[in-house]
Amino acid sequence: MITNTIVDYRNTSYKQFDFSLREKKVSFIENFKLDYPKAWNIYNYVNRKGEVYNIKFREMYHDKCVYCGVSIQVINSSNFEVDHVIPKSVLKLERGYDAKEIHGINNLVNSCQMCNRGKEDFLCDIENLETLHPDYNKLPTIFNRRSDYSIEINNEYKDISLIKEFYKKLKLNNQLRRLDYLLMEMKDFCDRYEGEQIINELEKLILRIENKRRRNY
Ligand SMILES: [Zn+2]
Repeated sequence: MITNTIVDYRNTSYKQFDFSLREKKVSFIENFKLDYPKAWNIYNYVNRKGEVYNIKFREMYHDKCVYCGVSIQVINSSNFEVDHVIPKSVLKLERGYDAKEIHGINNLVNSCQMCNRGKEDFLCDIENLETLHPDYNKLPTIFNRRSDYSIEINNEYKDISLIKEFYKKLKLNNQLRRLDYLLMEMKDFCDRYEGEQIINELEKLILRIENKRRRNY
């Protein structure tokens, strides 16, 4: 039987995670409400570094950036940020958005600093929101990981200006994306073959690459 599986550009060859989070967020918020029944600005809670709901939030995203896939294996937890999919700047535009919605769980995703700061005030129109909102998990149909580890836009989306703008703003073509993916591949490879002698040599190599990587942040 041929199954039409889409390889997710955020996952390595050794570990696959699912980023369809709409349902998971329902139970996340149910639990959250038990602790904070009156809270409406969810951002304030999930954004507090090291606090229990910040940790739970990042766990939901498998400690990875939902846009580029970089994981906590490669960057420090302090380099992860909570991104507003619809940017909070819309609240100043008086276009019918309310703060409850903008700072609500469904508008928040786990992002690395580079993606979040690059994305900035990028505003996706409502018709295309499901396409680009990571929780609907359509990003793997739009982008793919090439064999040289760079992220590219799939052919059918290559001429769509909204997608091109998104790709450019988030710097998905940045060379660091390739280096990070290489590191994640190597680390997941080491995990799989843990204990085998060659792994020690590989780990030393990874450490050297990581030290170079850190100078870029
Ligand atoms: Zn990222």
